[in-house]
This record gives sequence, structure tokens and C-alpha cells, in this order.
Amino acid sequence: MAKRLDILVPFLNERESVAGFSALAGDLAVQVKERFGLETHFVFIDDGSTDDGGALYGEHMTGDWSLITLARNFGKETAILAGLDHSEGDYVLLMDADLQHTVDVALDMIGRIMADSELDMVYAVRSDRAETRSLGRYFANGFYWLINMGQRYEIPANAGDFRVMTSRFAAALRQLRDQRRFNKGLYAWTGFKQERILYKPAERQGGESKWSRRRLIAFSLEGFTSFSVVPLRMVSLFGTGVAILGFLYGIKILLEVLFTGVSVPGYPSLIVAVLVLGGLNLALTGLVGEYVWSALSEAKNRPNYIVKSITGSHTATAVQTAKASRKATHG
Ligand code: UDP
Ligand code: MG
Repeated sequence: MAKRLDILVPFLNERESVAGFSALAGDLAVQVKERFGLETHFVFIDDGSTDDGGALYGEHMTGDWSLITLARNFGKETAILAGLDHSEGDYVLLMDADLQHTVDVALDMIGRIMADSELDMVYAVRSDRAETRSLGRYFANGFYWLINMGQRYEIPANAGDFRVMTSRFAAALRQLRDQRRFNKGLYAWTGFKQERILYKPAERQGGESKWSRRRLIAFSLEGFTSFSVVPLRMVSLFGTGVAILGFLYGIKILLEVLFTGVSVPGYPSLIVAVLVLGGLNLALTGLVGEYVWSALSEAKNRPNYIVKSITGSHTATAVQTAKASRKATHG
């Protein structure tokens, strides 16, 4: 039997690019069959779209595909997990629906992973990010430096979800049921042999990016709280340092009063100490709160997502529905 490639496509309000993506999908399917002899199966995950994008795929897609509609917007990271749960290909490719991920790069990655049996993941790294010098870039670099500090695995910068993996890598990812998902971290944590290729994403076709600054900040915090204790350690070390200095300073004042009789001057130093320590206290409380909230989300042990419906082309429908109900009953 021919080997199979599953292509997972999470989308949120991408109606403008449905026709374009369906054309790309047809092209990809043909090339993948010709060059690598792989059958393709597309899995679209509707991550709570409020437009009619999901239904539009039904009109434009040909070939073998299914559509998993989630009950609301769970976020791209979780939508990808939903896709993984409903795929069983020998290889799994992740692609964006907005046409920023191109056929050429996808073929290149598939070629590499098939050529080397030791390789379990090939991922695309944005080459256009490295050159830009902006404040955001410095923050991003600082972020990766911090989150990778003292880890046994490294989370690569500028690598997104444009990846191809083997079925055993996909199986490993399915086991990671983190509620607050940070995919980049999960890919790195999983291990295996991975290879990177450089790519320049195409312009977005219609619609707009779903990443606002606020969302990026929230997402970075989630990354931290699920992958790193470094921020907590830094604040506690700093706190300890300040406490030691304060203690020494106290002894100095005490000695001065005892031996020279100078009364305590220094209203400014007092207020500085109060402000610095007060601020630090609040920051640390907030940070601890983040970690507690993260722990609470995991402890609730809710399912990662809720599926509203599964539809698709002829053969896929029955298989996927059967698989889904099997999963629902056996957990
Ligand atoms: N997406 C999603 N759920 C979300 C946000 C985004 O499924 O909550 C999808 C989106 O439709 C697109 C992909 O994830 O197919 C990448 O999103 P986007 O293009 O906004 O990110 P960017 O390319 O700007 O990093
Ligand atoms: Mg995009």
C-alpha cells in the first residue's frame, strides 16, 4: 500500500484564501504523488471561524480531505493537536491556510524527511527575521535566550509550525496534552533528530494576521510558565541579594550609632528601598500567580478541545467519524 501524507491545516476566518489554498492543495497532491509516491489526505481544522470558510472548502476542494469543526476558537496550537488526533498518515505536514506556506518549501521538507530514515522532523525557519533590527526583535531574542537557559533541549528562534514529521513524532506529540500549549516548546521537548531549512514566507493572501501584540505577550508568558522556571529563579536570587545588602547596611548603621553616635539620616535611601522592594514583591506575586494559574489549568484536566462536527469527502468521512467516536469513548 502506498504511504500516506496527512496535511493539517488549522484556520480561523480565512474565507478569502479558501479558493487559493484549494488550488495549492491540488497542486501539492499531484507533485507529492509524482515525486514521492505518497497519497495525500488534507485535514482542515476550523478553529471557531465566524465566516463561512469551512463550507467553502467543501465547494473548492477535490481529492481526499476532511474538515474538523471545533466548538469555538481554541487557538492554533490546540487546533493542531485536534488535527494530529485525527490523522494517521506515515508523514504529517503542518501548513497555514493563508498561503504563506508554499508548495516548494513543503516539497523540499518532504523530500528531506523521506531521504533520511533517521530524521523525524524537518522544520522551516524564517530567514527574513534575522536581518531586521527592531525593538520587537530584541525582545524576541531575549525571550529565546531566557527560555533556553539551562534547558536540556533548545527551542529554536524564528521556527513556526511549518513542519513535516514522521508518524512516530506525531504519536509522541499526541501524548503531550498540555492545556496551555506552546508548540515550539513541545516540538523541542519531544527530541528525535530534527533538521531545519530556511524559507521566506509568502505574503498573506487576504484577511489579516491573528497575532496582535497583546496576544503575543500572553503567548510568551504561556511559553515561559510551561517551559521555564528561570524567571522565578532570577527574581528569587535578586530578592535574596537585596535582602543580604539590606542586612549588611543595617549592621553598618547600627555600628555607626553605637560608636559614633550619629543618628540615622537618609530618608531618600528609605524610600528607594521601599519602592524597589514593594515593586519587586508585586512583580513576583504576579509571576507566581501565572505559574499557579498554569498549574490550575492543567489540574482541571479538561479535554483540550471540543469537536462540533466532522465532515469531508466520501471515504474520509466514515473513517474519521469512526476514529473520533473511538477516541471519545476510550479517552
Ligand atoms: N489560526 C488558527 N487559530 C487561531 C489563530 C490562527 O487556526 O486562533 C490559523 C490561521 O487561520 C492561519 C494560521 O493559524 O491559517 C497562522 O495564523 P496567522 O497567519 O494569523 O499567523 P502569522 O502567519 O501572522 O504568524
Ligand atoms: Mg500567516
